[in-house]
Amino acid sequence: MSHKYVYLFSEGNGKMRELLGGKGANLAEMTVLGMPVPQGFTISTEACTQYYKDGREINADIQAEIYEYLAKMEKISGKKFADPTNPLLVSVRSGARASMPGMMDTILNLGLNDTVVEGLAKLTNSPRFAYDSYRRFVQMFSDVVMELSKTEFEKIIEAKKQEKGVKMDTELDADDMKDLVKKFKAFYKAQKGEDFPTEPKVQLMEAVKAVFRSWDNPRANVYRRMNEIPYDWGTAVNVQAMVFGNSGDKSGTGVAFTRNPATGEKALFGEYLINAQGEDVVAGIRTPFPISHLQQDMPEVYNQFAEIANNLEKHYTDMQDMEFTIENGKLYMLQTRNGKRTAAAALKVAVDLVDEGMITEEEAVLRVEPKQLDSLLHPQFDATAIKKAKAIGKGLAASPGAACGRVVFSAEDAKEWHDKGEKIVLVRLETSPEDIEGMAVAQGILTVRGGMTSHAAVVARGMGTCCVSGCGEIVVDYDAKKFTLAGQTIKEGDYISIDGSTGNIYAEAIPTAAAKISGDFDRFMKWADAARKLEVYTNADTPKDAKQGRDFGAQGIGLCRTEHMFFEGQRIKAMREMIVAKTTEEREKALVKLTPFQQGDFEGIYEVMEGRPVIIRFLDPPLHEFLPTKEEDIKEIAGELNITVADLKNVIASLHEFNPMMGHRGCRLAVSYPEIARMQTTAVINAAIAVNKKHPEFKTEPRIMIPLVGEQKELKFVKDIVTETADKIIKEAGVSLRYEVGTMIEIPRAALTADDIAKEAEFFSFGTNDLTQMTFGFSRDDAGKFLNYYYENKIYESDPFAHLDQNGVGKLVKMAVELGRKTRPEIHLGICGEHGGDPTSVEFCHNVGLNYVSCSPFRVPIARLAAAQAAVKEKRAK
Ligand code: ADP
Ligand code: MG
Ligand code: MG
Repeated sequence: MSHKYVYLFSEGNGKMRELLGGKGANLAEMTVLGMPVPQGFTISTEACTQYYKDGREINADIQAEIYEYLAKMEKISGKKFADPTNPLLVSVRSGARASMPGMMDTILNLGLNDTVVEGLAKLTNSPRFAYDSYRRFVQMFSDVVMELSKTEFEKIIEAKKQEKGVKMDTELDADDMKDLVKKFKAFYKAQKGEDFPTEPKVQLMEAVKAVFRSWDNPRANVYRRMNEIPYDWGTAVNVQAMVFGNSGDKSGTGVAFTRNPATGEKALFGEYLINAQGEDVVAGIRTPFPISHLQQDMPEVYNQFAEIANNLEKHYTDMQDMEFTIENGKLYMLQTRNGKRTAAAALKVAVDLVDEGMITEEEAVLRVEPKQLDSLLHPQFDATAIKKAKAIGKGLAASPGAACGRVVFSAEDAKEWHDKGEKIVLVRLETSPEDIEGMAVAQGILTVRGGMTSHAAVVARGMGTCCVSGCGEIVVDYDAKKFTLAGQTIKEGDYISIDGSTGNIYAEAIPTAAAKISGDFDRFMKWADAARKLEVYTNADTPKDAKQGRDFGAQGIGLCRTEHMFFEGQRIKAMREMIVAKTTEEREKALVKLTPFQQGDFEGIYEVMEGRPVIIRFLDPPLHEFLPTKEEDIKEIAGELNITVADLKNVIASLHEFNPMMGHRGCRLAVSYPEIARMQTTAVINAAIAVNKKHPEFKTEPRIMIPLVGEQKELKFVKDIVTETADKIIKEAGVSLRYEVGTMIEIPRAALTADDIAKEAEFFSFGTNDLTQMTFGFSRDDAGKFLNYYYENKIYESDPFAHLDQNGVGKLVKMAVELGRKTRPEIHLGICGEHGGDPTSVEFCHNVGLNYVSCSPFRVPIARLAAAQAAVKEKRAK
């Protein structure tokens, strides 16, 4: 036989998700368990892949196989497709490996036409039921397969109800249903220019095609990108014998969870509707009863269902989300899957299942999605309020959480409004280091430009502040202090709400609730810590961030950026003096002013970290970032610096670069101005000596990281400055102090020559933001403008700045790991790019054998859990 593409439910099992999709695999598993499942077959995901390979056609072999299985189904059910005397009706249901909203809706009652419906009416002695099923089918088929608007059909039903003076669909009788079918079909013909298909086999094949097609619709594509589901997985199609919840008062349909998906509480939770079919329960057509009501309504059915639910939970050892239908007092199971749940419920269920002896602690670690922890650590919108709210626009979900406040357009205004006791949302074209203080007091930050690793996004994540970035539809008018979006004008002081977890923007005030961490969290995270091998550090530039990171469980600081320290108060002035200096002496004079500030910062951080590793990166950005750009600022600052405006403008012009990210920055600054590295070394070493004097028990050991290295000699040049300076200070102080000098690997050439670089570097930290940008050759600030075209054309499936590109950038990382260890087996390896807090990237870091990942404080718990899951998965794969 040629390749098998179709499987009876009785031929599959729960482990065959890849082939049968989640729904199909679980239908097979329930069949194996002997549960009451209407029988049918699953067309595999491979058939879907083949459909795309064949140019969006189901080839003749697969069609033949489908019909062959339809015949088998007829045998099993004892009914016949298209036979009015004993008709087989089916549902056609999509089901990918991972459950995926955005895929095609289900079609029910397929197989009906004008003759079959008459047969069904006779057979059941219920024309109303037969025509209700028929009108549902025409409606669903038109909407789902033929993409006619659902609402048009609803309008026709609404008109019918008005004509009859009734409110409920259950009050419409057989003739009404018959009339609806007629009207639906007329509408169909008017829209499509052809008759509604009457041949059941044609209906079936069209429906299967529609499922395959829906794998590639825009909604599904967006969902896949957000959830890193590969396009080539494909979806399966399930064809299942219909059971009828709409066949009278002893029939119905419902959904239920074995535990409460919002809280995790252990109790059957769900709803059902009598005399209803399919989506009626969730569509809100009538108000459903709580599942507990079924206990009085149909005690036997309830007991059977409760027992099945209990068995399924035990079988899958996880909370189940089930769909069922009752036909004339008989229960049928239509679906089961591990239920989606809130983060709080996920924690409670995992911990409870361990306490109930159902799963091990190690298994529990796999039961909570790392990304979900976000919602425990950040404020969230009030659940009912957000449901009612309507977004007016969408940007990138750059930093999670919910924010509601009054709009301001500058950092100064942010501070001013904040001091008056107002909650504010800062709206900017983009942010820069000067905006830090304004960002710090904001509930949320909204930017027009910039991607997931733009300044706004990185800083906001670091602060744990909600941020939506890169909403290009916004038109900002700074002078008039207003912006427009989707035709609405929002002025300074108006309320907006932004959702950093979805990117949604709302022109209204939506109440938020503070983050709350329960006792389950600590217990659960201890299990994760016991399982993981990667160390988790945090990126922190201030004692406050360092403390936050530690509170979330960081074991060290993987990236302390020193440039952020130069913006406050007196420092920026000294920094600017340094930049405009014409001689080394002048520069050194300015640097002397900066030394105590810098040393103080380091002492503060060392104290908080109590001897844990702190990796301090030397000055990285191009110097022009510290100089003013606006005319009036230039005037003012020239005055402050005691130079002429023309002089300052000359300096600014001389620092102008065509491509600053590839310009005079990183260790290149230290090569041209060794005194900068000398000053920073002095501050680091003196800080460590001072803290060790106060707290000998900390045994603080400085780690100095040289950025943007691409060549061993370049690193040696800077390292020599560092060691010369450090050794001298240590000697003069008469203490013993161990320190390390390492480098970032963020230029492809550094990765390629990592064996040489490791001769000088005692540790590597992969700076994957720059490494990604330089490997792809596009800037992270500009990529947002064109990446969408790449997604649409399936060239890239996700943002390489958010999820590490394992094929390309990852190859460089792997190579550098191997080369580095070859030269220096004990070399300490880590990552400090934004990928350090992204679960799939963390898994990659574990697999290539890094020692640590470092991420912003609020992502530390996520990284801890992701690292644990990577370790457990690796162990189990063996
Ligand atoms: P979704 O993935 O959107 O939940 P499903 O394929 O589960 O879609 O179908 C939605 C609903 O349609 C089910 O919950 C069930 O009520 C109804 N349904 C699907 N197949 C059948 C069937 N064979 N008999 C009766 N009802 C069905
Ligand atoms: Mg379902
Ligand atoms: Mg960098």
